[in-house]
Amino acid sequence: MRVRVVLRSVHGETVTRDMIEGNWADPVGDADLVLGENLWALPGLVDGHAHFAAETMAPRPGNLEDAITRARTALDAGVLLALDKGWGDLTVLDLVERVDPGDRPEIEAAGLIHAVEGGYIAEVCRIIDPGEVGPAMNQAAGEGRGWVKLIGDWPRKGIGPLPNFTEEQLGVAVRSASAAGARVAVHTMARDVPSMAVRAGVHSIEHGLFLQLEDLDDLGSRGGIWVPTVLNMEAVIRQLGEHSSGGRLITEGLANVARLLPEAVEAGVHILAGTDLAVGTHQVGQEAVRLAEMGLSPKHALRAVSYSGFEATGRPVAFEVDAAADAVMFDANPEEDLGVLAHPRHVIRRGRVVK
Ligand SMILES: [Zn+2]
Repeated sequence: MRVRVVLRSVHGETVTRDMIEGNWADPVGDADLVLGENLWALPGLVDGHAHFAAETMAPRPGNLEDAITRARTALDAGVLLALDKGWGDLTVLDLVERVDPGDRPEIEAAGLIHAVEGGYIAEVCRIIDPGEVGPAMNQAAGEGRGWVKLIGDWPRKGIGPLPNFTEEQLGVAVRSASAAGARVAVHTMARDVPSMAVRAGVHSIEHGLFLQLEDLDDLGSRGGIWVPTVLNMEAVIRQLGEHSSGGRLITEGLANVARLLPEAVEAGVHILAGTDLAVGTHQVGQEAVRLAEMGLSPKHALRAVSYSGFEATGRPVAFEVDAAADAVMFDANPEEDLGVLAHPRHVIRRGRVVK
């Protein structure tokens, strides 16, 4: 059966493609089925900070069956790329190996989360000696799929958040991971550490509540990523209590995030929508809505949950001939109403009409 797809992008261009062996092809002859007329198409939704091994912050080991269910639910919702930022075990890598890519989103994954003694929730990370971060990242790059993950800072009782690594150690981590073909993601919610991480050449800043204006040009000029995870930060405030020291710090950090979002766009930073564990990966559209409420233009909030994720990871975004036939389609233009992201009409993954 020849399925033809009309792809009207939010940028106003329309291209028509056939699907042959999972890839886009130029249309030839008559089609048996035409999909997508009068719909708006994106190359897929993207979750820039997923954890397929977990449902909540509770430090439980991952379970393969649950991870598979989460991945399938995400695919049905139109999520075609997810960057998994690690867990305390390698469940996500089992998922990637055992489930055919056509039955799940494309997944890049960090494997294990790395921290120093006392520097994270012990059950969901691998504790390393900060002086051995180079060999540790080399090993982690071999275990993961394209990423390694470090916890950059973590609160200590009665003291507040402290850095887990020096700027020099972060630089060693970047060089070691890069040499082994992986990008480095750093979790940071404290002051000073985002700037250290950017100067050290880290590829993706997770949360990054205290990024500074002067960090943005550096991060943007090298195609760096920032995943603010606003919904998750707000969930952490509720969990800690808004008047707790941690709650107040995150509230201050979110005000900084709101100030910086338009500046980060200007600087060319790839801002990505990431669910973390506030909502499921299938609900990543909600983070795009929140980013818009925080001050991103609708156009850039939409980019954050779609185009930017593909561009930041070097993937085609223009429904190119011979590229994997991936698309998600909506009844209304999501750039005019981000709410429609929650209701895709069609989802196509590697040439299969999933929905
Ligand atoms: Zn996370």
